Amino acid sequence: MVTAGRAIRWTRRLLGTLGVGWVKRSAAPPTARKKWWDRAALVPPYFPRFRPGLKVFDLRRPGGRRRFHLRTNTDGAAVLMVDATDAIHLNPTAALLARLALEKAPVDRAAAVLRGRFRGVGAAKARSAADHVYALIERLTDLTASCPTCGLAEVIVKWSPPFSVPVSAPYKADLALSYGCNNNCPHCYSKDRASSSLAPRPSPLSPSQWREVLRRLAAIGVPHMIFTGGEPTLFDGLPELVRHSTELGLVSGLNTNGRRLSDPAYVELLRAAGLDHVQITLQSYDPAVHDAMSGAAAFDETVRGLKNSLVAGLHAITNTTLTRRNVGQAGQLVEFLHGLGITTFAMNGMIFAGGGRTSGDEISAEALAPVLADVRDRAAELKMRFLWYTPTEYCRLSPVELELGPRRCNAGEYSICIEPNGDVIPCQSYYVPAGNILRDRWRDIWESELFRGFRRRTADPRGAGLPEQCWNCPDLPLCGGGCPLEREHNNQITQSV
Ligand code: SF4
Ligand code: SF4
Repeated sequence: MVTAGRAIRWTRRLLGTLGVGWVKRSAAPPTARKKWWDRAALVPPYFPRFRPGLKVFDLRRPGGRRRFHLRTNTDGAAVLMVDATDAIHLNPTAALLARLALEKAPVDRAAAVLRGRFRGVGAAKARSAADHVYALIERLTDLTASCPTCGLAEVIVKWSPPFSVPVSAPYKADLALSYGCNNNCPHCYSKDRASSSLAPRPSPLSPSQWREVLRRLAAIGVPHMIFTGGEPTLFDGLPELVRHSTELGLVSGLNTNGRRLSDPAYVELLRAAGLDHVQITLQSYDPAVHDAMSGAAAFDETVRGLKNSLVAGLHAITNTTLTRRNVGQAGQLVEFLHGLGITTFAMNGMIFAGGGRTSGDEISAEALAPVLADVRDRAAELKMRFLWYTPTEYCRLSPVELELGPRRCNAGEYSICIEPNGDVIPCQSYYVPAGNILRDRWRDIWESELFRGFRRRTADPRGAGLPEQCWNCPDLPLCGGGCPLEREHNNQITQSV
């Protein structure tokens, strides 16, 4: 009887006798293998077909690192994400050239590939287009620039207004590993969610199920994972999940109260697993105010966690919810953060979910405006970066007029949240699931009426449930009508009066 092994050996001998080489692909010297763009340039017309999905480019140079995620759509257009924070939309031609540039193909080869791919393109035009996109990539890979996408006006041909280009998948997923927490903030948006009667069913996902969630999100093309909660550091498998996210080429961040980071060994574990950045909630420079707003004696551990994160080399920022309890100290907090060595900090207003609906600590948008102007000016004096997170109604508080940049709700569009049981909700505070990431098809979740409603705010404000004053408002594209949770909260108050 001829076994499979003997058959293979005979075949090899026969091929050897005939003078046909039996060379394993991997045994060929690397220099002998042509790159795909060389083949493309030799055999025009050549049509590279890239599979839709996420391709990761991790550029390391002395003095820094920059990560690119090129997410290609079925039509060949793509989104290029820089360090998972800035997104540049590319048409199919620019997407092809950007990929060639990131794969380090010579620019003349790129021009040749372009001519093979798009018939009728002249040599000069192809070379000019290639030069243009290569200049863009070169600018983005400049590690000496503090902001990779600032000052791109010279190299980008056409600007689209913010929030105007439809996306095929979110840029970021918040992974709420657990709603448990070692703090007890009265204004916490997930407060109700943490109580056992309202906790999502069925039971929380295991670490191996969360790894599967990460794989699914990577396959969908989501490049940026934020581990959050509740308090994500209470989830035992967190370092393992960060490592898996890193192995998949994703960028990992952590939103935490910082208390567990007071242990330097734990911070090192997370850093070694590939954690990229951490956002620590700090409510005040005053221990009594911070502890009162946190519902726990947390200040010392939180500040130590912040210092340990900086020492470990993590990109560490703080976030502060402005309420009646701390708003009078916002300016001093900026100086305190500067003294700690923080260069970027964030603030937000009340989120009207969970405890945020009942604490009574919120400040009106109108009253926040002078506070934000003061914080902005102090940050500028100290050369710090101030991020304002809350999407307000621009007719009450315009972040654009305050020179804080456009802020619009990005739920169900640029961002989604996965709950502890795998349910997919539009954002971390909007507790209505559109399906379950492990049980349901992604397409059904993404195209659900709930998510489509969030995405069609501008095109169909009436259908999306915005009030009549928004329907023809010129600010609608940037404002989006503010946070729907605040609107629902205010409507409920009006109805009950
Ligand atoms: S879109 Fe609506 S909420 Fe926004 S500024 Fe216009 S009227 Fe105000
Ligand atoms: S619904 Fe939108 S604006 Fe409101 S908390 Fe969620 S993401 Fe923010």
